[in-house]
Amino acid sequence: MPELPEVEILRRHLEPRIVGYQVQRVKVYKKRIVRPDAAGELEKVIQGCQILGIHRRGKYLILLLNSESGSNKILIHLGMTGRLFSLKKTDAIDSFPHLALHVECDKGQLCYVDPRTFGRWSLDLSCIDRLGPEPMDSSSFHARYLGHKFSTRKAKIKDMLMNQACVAGLGNIYVCEVLHAAGLHPLLPVGQINSNALKKLCQCIRRTLKSALKIGEQSELNLQGAGAGDGFFYFGRSNRASQLIQERFRVYDREAKPCRVCKCLVERIMISQRSTYFCPNCQKA
Ligand SMILES: [Zn+2]
Repeated sequence: MPELPEVEILRRHLEPRIVGYQVQRVKVYKKRIVRPDAAGELEKVIQGCQILGIHRRGKYLILLLNSESGSNKILIHLGMTGRLFSLKKTDAIDSFPHLALHVECDKGQLCYVDPRTFGRWSLDLSCIDRLGPEPMDSSSFHARYLGHKFSTRKAKIKDMLMNQACVAGLGNIYVCEVLHAAGLHPLLPVGQINSNALKKLCQCIRRTLKSALKIGEQSELNLQGAGAGDGFFYFGRSNRASQLIQERFRVYDREAKPCRVCKCLVERIMISQRSTYFCPNCQKA
C-alpha cells in the first residue's frame, strides 16, 4: 500500500497537471470504490466543477473542487492497487481494463484504475479529523507529543506507529525502516521508551520519510499510466528506480540478509498479521 512518500510524490506530480481542469464528464465504472456515498452522488458533485487543488493528509489525497454552487472536497485513498493519473485529452482509455473512475476535462483526463478495488473515493472527509499529526510537521509532531501519547501504554511501538490516529501516513514498510534506524525493537511497549529515545525516533521518522521523498523525486517514475513498469517507487516498479530501491531498505523485505549496520541476519516476525523485519542485534527487545 502506498504510504506518505508515495502519495506525496503522486500529489506533486498531479498538481501541475490537473489544477485548473474543468470537468466535462464523470463516470464511475466500479461502484464499489465509492464508499459510503452512492456513486451517482459523487458523479453529480464532480460534474461541471473546476479542479482547484490536490492536497494530501496522511495516506489520503483530497481533491478540491469549485462549482457555481460552492466548493467541494473529494477524499481519495488508493488502497492496495489504486492508481491515479492524468492523460492527454486525445489519449484512449480502452487500454485500461481496471478503469474504476474516469473524469473527462476540458484540457485532459483524470483516470483512476484499481484492479482489487480496495481504494476509496468519498464525499465524507470525517476520517481526516481522526488522523494524528503529520510526521514532517515539527510543530505538532515531536518527542513531547509522543511522550504524552505513549505514557503508561502497554501497546507495542510498531502497532502505535502504524495507528493513523497516532501519526498519519506511516505504514508497514516505513515503520520497519524507522524502528531499525531508531534502534527500537518492534515489540517494545511504548511506555518503556524514554524521552531521548523518543527524540531520536522523531528524527528517524523525518529522516526516513525525507530520504524516501528524495528517491521518489529522483526516480523518473512513469506516473502517467497503469502499465506493469509504471507507478510507485517502493518496489522498484520503474527500471531506473529498481537499483536505488535494492540499496534503499535497511530491513524491509530483507529476511535472512545481513543487517547493513552490524551484519547480523535480519529476522521476520508477524505483528498484527503484518510481516515485520528487524535486526535482533541493533534492535534489542
Ligand atoms: Zn544490526
